[in-house]
Amino acid sequence: MSIEDVQEDFFLGELKKRNGIFYFRRVGMYAPEGSLVLFQFDNLIIASANLHSIEKFDTPEKEQYYGAYQFDIKTLEVFQPITVAEINKIDGNITRFSQSKQEINSSFISEIEELIKRKQMALLADELPVQESPKLKEGAKKQVLVNSYERNYKARQQCIDYYGCHCSVCDFEFAKFYGDEFEGKIHVHHLKALSEINEEYEVDPINDLRPVCPNCHLALHSKVGDKPYTIEELKEKIYRN
Ligand SMILES: [Zn+2]
Ligand SMILES: [Zn+2]
Repeated sequence: MSIEDVQEDFFLGELKKRNGIFYFRRVGMYAPEGSLVLFQFDNLIIASANLHSIEKFDTPEKEQYYGAYQFDIKTLEVFQPITVAEINKIDGNITRFSQSKQEINSSFISEIEELIKRKQMALLADELPVQESPKLKEGAKKQVLVNSYERNYKARQQCIDYYGCHCSVCDFEFAKFYGDEFEGKIHVHHLKALSEINEEYEVDPINDLRPVCPNCHLALHSKVGDKPYTIEELKEKIYRN
């Protein structure tokens, strides 16, 4: 099961449908109402929600669940995965994610919330929504979705590690322009047009991806037709202006 499946099917599907009720076999978390709870999957934090209450059942439900956490679904969020290293930068005591429960010092809450906000933005900002073309085969459309998450996340990182964190078209660098706290901000653009992608396609972070700034990214996708401009085409336009 991919991270995206868990986020979509469980957090935004199942848990929302159950109005935020999360059954447990044994109570593991004694946290006060309003606590921010981070959900971990595959050693990454992929969702968060505020705890509303903890309920214990007199008789177990479905013969195995002895209670439930009630989360406030209005606060439920999914986002680009957060790694142990990123949490460790905030709270140096956390060097790995426990498989059960774990507490993060509440004095770090605003930093954690900032990180979550950034991760939500990153999730929204990446590849721009592709305009649907009637020529596309179903398989191609599906493939882009399947490709889109966990693999993309790693590929994105490899692309930035290789090319550096500046725009491949205009050389813009967030940290240079806005300051150090913007270090690492960039969009990653996919060079292949959707129509060139077939079922067996696997993203190649060096050959298929390029870091670009959001302005150039929008410009790249502004070409009429189903293909974006190439990096070179857009560079030429800049120098001609
Ligand atoms: Zn640019
Ligand atoms: Zn793009």
